[in-house]
Amino acid sequence: MRIVIKVGTSTLTHKTGNLNIRHVEKLCRVMSDLKNAGHELILVSSGAIGMGVGKLGLTEKPKDVPTKQAAAAIGQCELMYVYDKEFSEYGHIIAQILLTGSDLDNETRSQNFHNTLNRLLELNVLPVINENDTIATDEISVGDNDTLSAIVAVEAKADLLILLSDIKGLYTDDPHKNTDAKLIDKVYEITEEIEALGGGAGSSLGTGGMQTKIKAAKMCMENHIDMVITDGNDPEALYDIADGRLIGTHFYGKR
Ligand code: GLU
Repeated sequence: MRIVIKVGTSTLTHKTGNLNIRHVEKLCRVMSDLKNAGHELILVSSGAIGMGVGKLGLTEKPKDVPTKQAAAAIGQCELMYVYDKEFSEYGHIIAQILLTGSDLDNETRSQNFHNTLNRLLELNVLPVINENDTIATDEISVGDNDTLSAIVAVEAKADLLILLSDIKGLYTDDPHKNTDAKLIDKVYEITEEIEALGGGAGSSLGTGGMQTKIKAAKMCMENHIDMVITDGNDPEALYDIADGRLIGTHFYGKR
């Protein structure tokens, strides 16, 4: 199976912005094993800004654009260093691809992205993709990695997109506020009711929230790709999902 896995800042880092070593080690081990089992994987990873914040010892995510971009430049290095170290342990080669919305809107650049991505997969390399935050301001950015990962899944003609998040899936209400909120395990159509469950709110260092995840699901389903939202605290769930077991919320796009 060709699977795009998106991991959010809240899974990769602690609230301090420092690396969550336990999560990252587990994620890389499970992904390496899935690659060993023959799956083609693409990782869309957030965490550049968060890790930059951690490394600089800042107390919160910067609000001004130049500091945010500086934090991303610092954190992206750290992020790739960590992935390279972890995946190398299991003999896997990684490659960095940084994109902006305007790259994807431009026919030539988007074709080049497409060619590189496919060549990397043929070479059995694991592409690690993020927004190019150091140059992407609001006007030219994709804006969040939920959307970016859906674009990548469509571009790569993936079978499945898995969003590893700080929440188990889509709930009937905000589970942080309403203890009666129930997990919705299957979604066959993005109805107005589902869209209304989007709300706002993401984590303090990340960008997306449920709204961007539902938008990503819509994009995947329109392109006949399945999407799963699951808890990033448990990367082992990737085994179950790859084996077709129902975990988190599964959006059905395949026909
Ligand atoms: N590209 C951002 C980063 O790496 C994250 C965007 C997102 O959280 O959706 O820090």
